[in-house]
Amino acid sequence: MSGDAVTLGALRRLAAKRLAEAETVDTPALDARILIASVVGMAPNELVLADYRAVSMEEITRIDALLERRAAGEPVARIIGAREFWGLSFRLEAETLVPRPDSETVIEAALGFVDRTGGRDRPLRLIDIGTGSGALLIALLSELPNAIGLGIDLSVGAARAARANAARLGVGRRSLFVSGYFAESARQADVVVSNPPYIESAVIATLPAEVRDFDPRLALDGGVDGLDAYRAIIPTLTRLLDPGGAAFLEIGFDQGDVVRRLAEDAGFDAAMHRDLSGHDRVVEVSRGLL
Ligand code: GLN
Repeated sequence: MSGDAVTLGALRRLAAKRLAEAETVDTPALDARILIASVVGMAPNELVLADYRAVSMEEITRIDALLERRAAGEPVARIIGAREFWGLSFRLEAETLVPRPDSETVIEAALGFVDRTGGRDRPLRLIDIGTGSGALLIALLSELPNAIGLGIDLSVGAARAARANAARLGVGRRSLFVSGYFAESARQADVVVSNPPYIESAVIATLPAEVRDFDPRLALDGGVDGLDAYRAIIPTLTRLLDPGGAAFLEIGFDQGDVVRRLAEDAGFDAAMHRDLSGHDRVVEVSRGLL
């Protein structure tokens, strides 16, 4: 080039075009913006206001490497190692599932319960089973100023990532993260949340590559019928849930009836919450009025 500086605007358009040519990329312009922003140290929505800023050769080289990974099918959240959930930015590790918008249904349902039963200022005790990046527990702690929370994950790496996210997002002193089997570390809670693995083992191979190749299998694989985690978790709620408490379990869109039945067979009341697409997404488990 003749010494003319490359601008962010030009680079953004070239990058979007390049990603659009890759078949696996559904949102090329948005992905380009997020990846470029991560290199130049701006928020993605600031980038469009800086179209005339010059880009250095060094930045171009780094951006090029990220675009290459994206074009090859790696998800944006994995490339930048972060994903937004409930308006908070969570850092990710290889051992943590990328938080999904559907899981915000868990937060809405749990906050609805808290609002109904005495308000958000109470000193609530929360437990998150299979906490991953800590998204569910940390989002709840951010809304419940006097709550404390225990996050449990089988993966040591996930517990470490969740602990770091909690500290960074200002709830480190009100949370504890441990790895291991939940049955051994948990005590009574007012609110239990969980987004356990719920995909049938045989279905995992058919998932989109962004999920299949990049999300941890431990966070996806629910066993032969996808229900192993619920069969493990629901019986422990007898001990785990305070008599007036409730658990909010994320489910696959077609698992509502069967998980509700598992809860009722264990002596609980069960209610359903839908996600923004209208799918059954969260089963609320409580002791009802017994
Ligand atoms: N909702 C995730 C997906 O669609 C599955 C997460 C899980 O099993 N908890 O891939």
